[in-house]
Amino acid sequence: MTPPHPADVICQQFFILFMTRAYPLEKVRDIGIIAHIDAGKTTVSERVLFYTGVSHKIGEVHEGAAVMDWMEQERERGITITAAATTCFWIPTYHKGNKEFEHRINLIDTPGHVDFTVEVERSLRVLDGGVVVFDGVAGVEPQSETVWHQADKYNVPRICFINKLDRVGARWEKDIASIRERLNPKAVPIQIPVGEEEKFEGVIDLITEKFITFSGAHGEIFDIKEIPDTEKERAKKYREEMIDIIASESGDDAMMEKYLAGEALAVADIKAVIRRLTIAGTINPILCGTALKNKGVQLMLDAVIDYLPSPLDRGAVKGIDPNTEQEIMRSPNDAEPFSALAFKIATDPFVGSLAFFRIYSGTLTKGSYVYNSTKGEKERISRILRLHANQREEVDQIFAGEIAAAVGLKNTTTGDTLCDEDKPIILERITFPEPVISIRIEPKTKVDQEKMGLALRRLGEEDPTFRIRVDQETAETIISGMGELHLEIIVDRMFREFGVSANVGTPQVAYRETIRKMAEAEGKYIKQSGGRGQYGHVRLRVEPRERGAGFEFESELKGGVVPQEYIPAVEKGVKEALDKGVVAGYPIKDVKVIIYDGSYHEVDSSEAAFKIAGSMAFQECVRRADPVILEPVMKVVAITPPQFMGDVTGDLNSKRGKIEGIDDRGNIKVITAKVPLAKMFGYSTQIRSMTEGRASFSMEFSHYDEVPKNIAEDIISGKIK
Ligand code: GDP
Repeated sequence: MTPPHPADVICQQFFILFMTRAYPLEKVRDIGIIAHIDAGKTTVSERVLFYTGVSHKIGEVHEGAAVMDWMEQERERGITITAAATTCFWIPTYHKGNKEFEHRINLIDTPGHVDFTVEVERSLRVLDGGVVVFDGVAGVEPQSETVWHQADKYNVPRICFINKLDRVGARWEKDIASIRERLNPKAVPIQIPVGEEEKFEGVIDLITEKFITFSGAHGEIFDIKEIPDTEKERAKKYREEMIDIIASESGDDAMMEKYLAGEALAVADIKAVIRRLTIAGTINPILCGTALKNKGVQLMLDAVIDYLPSPLDRGAVKGIDPNTEQEIMRSPNDAEPFSALAFKIATDPFVGSLAFFRIYSGTLTKGSYVYNSTKGEKERISRILRLHANQREEVDQIFAGEIAAAVGLKNTTTGDTLCDEDKPIILERITFPEPVISIRIEPKTKVDQEKMGLALRRLGEEDPTFRIRVDQETAETIISGMGELHLEIIVDRMFREFGVSANVGTPQVAYRETIRKMAEAEGKYIKQSGGRGQYGHVRLRVEPRERGAGFEFESELKGGVVPQEYIPAVEKGVKEALDKGVVAGYPIKDVKVIIYDGSYHEVDSSEAAFKIAGSMAFQECVRRADPVILEPVMKVVAITPPQFMGDVTGDLNSKRGKIEGIDDRGNIKVITAKVPLAKMFGYSTQIRSMTEGRASFSMEFSHYDEVPKNIAEDIISGKIK
């Protein structure tokens, strides 16, 4: 064998040197800022990017210049919709200026509005930790509770940041009580504020026992002082409470004894225990400040480094080997086979389609091929980008535990696994809720028709909760989504980004149909008069499935009564018929279809004939299986001053709502109810006029339920659309 040319050796060594990761895994944090809409997530994210030095100009939300809100209508509405990822760097303040302690933070944006549940879910799926931001005046709001429980589902460790302490009406103690009562009784303040509302000065760090204030145009200067005498008692009380919780939760008797004996505890020891308990999900450290007035955000970043996990702490991820169906694991290690999850497809004005992904194991080099194991296809990664707040960085290679965006993927959609073709794995899929609301859109011209097709396809790739359907009879396009706002934004993007002109109908409830009992029927499609005929013949059985279980097709055929090759055609026919139910033409859900008999003809049988026979048999089955119409039912939480409680509950009752609970929260009433979506259109105006503008509400999808008979009749006759 000829020895390698020295130049090649140098090249190779350079390559290895060049390709090593810039940040060891323990210095990486993949985190998200999670918040109820308006709590200040955008402002906090802005400050994070400012302090981390990527963004040097603070853009206020109300000026419409926020760095993270890069989509036009997001800026206009002042809400953040897309879950893009931004990379920044942070040296903890206590290691100021020491590059050795620099960490890479990948900030994954999560939306706060429930219409975008799926955005929240898919970001939670790839996050290692979260910062939950609360409005210091409002405390825990209904949607914060929803997101909190979603985060529980994905075991995402969290720290809390109570924001807006400068606002009139901010009550820190009340906020702590509401977090403990409604989210986690073991949430523990590690800081306390000094002064409230306009007198809010800074925070006392209960671990280091120092008082920290912020000054300079953007709070970039901060002073560490002794705790003022007036605050000593309060600080002592909260510190004791903190030590008490962490020592008892950790079972660290030595720490407890030391503390009780009045011995000093080392800062590093306290931090280590808090870190361990936070990562285990036992406690949630609570910090506080005001993003708008530039107080406390740097310390929140320190806490991200100190208490939230690195990909190493999160450990291996589970998946399925598509060849063997066995469960397999992948560790956050560059040497393992490559595996990654695409969590967001975004259309970028400069590079086209961008697929954001998180690498769970191995490395990825630009120009290489990866295997999309979800779709069973190969994809070429033409470029890899890392997105910073206001610039894109092209990288040649990226490593385990990191987040980046790929350019050039053709068939990858949200939730797909990308991996090494020789070592395939399918990572746990993200589950998406059913869309509950739909609108009809009609393009104005032929050109618009084409543009609309492209636009909807693109938007559908980005967002799996958004569905597109063409009504076979009227040829109208119907789009469905999670709520009025969700569809409004999609239509808006279609107009602006893709320049489509179209007439848009009013939002309508996405009704469904299902069956209530088992039934059997036969489908025959036979034409044998002259020339080559048609022959398809099947017997099918339908059975109801549990609500939400979806569609299933099974064959019980024995001995080739229908050749194997025609069975997929039968299934296809059934699937097409699923789109249009027999009661009122709405899609059918939650049925199992079994083919158990049939016959064929040597010459005349074809796939097309079996497809038609399948579709006919299925429709007849459904007719015999006691079909019903289903409607989406929403969980509604209304918050009102007590004097309007009677009006609000009475109104919900008249909307076919079921009141499930009325709670007192301070001096307001919180009403929880289940109400059909059909009755909730325009509710925000109604509730406001009913309560002199003093009540508010939130709603999210709960389940599908049978429509009462009289209403079903109106739907069938077209009186209700
Ligand atoms: P998001 O909907 O959670 O992204 O919230 P934004 O960051 O858009 O903030 C909502 C509103 O609250 C904006 O008008 C902000 O200027 C304001 N805001 C954010 N943080 C603070 C704060 O610390 N104090 C006060 N007083 N207002 C704030």
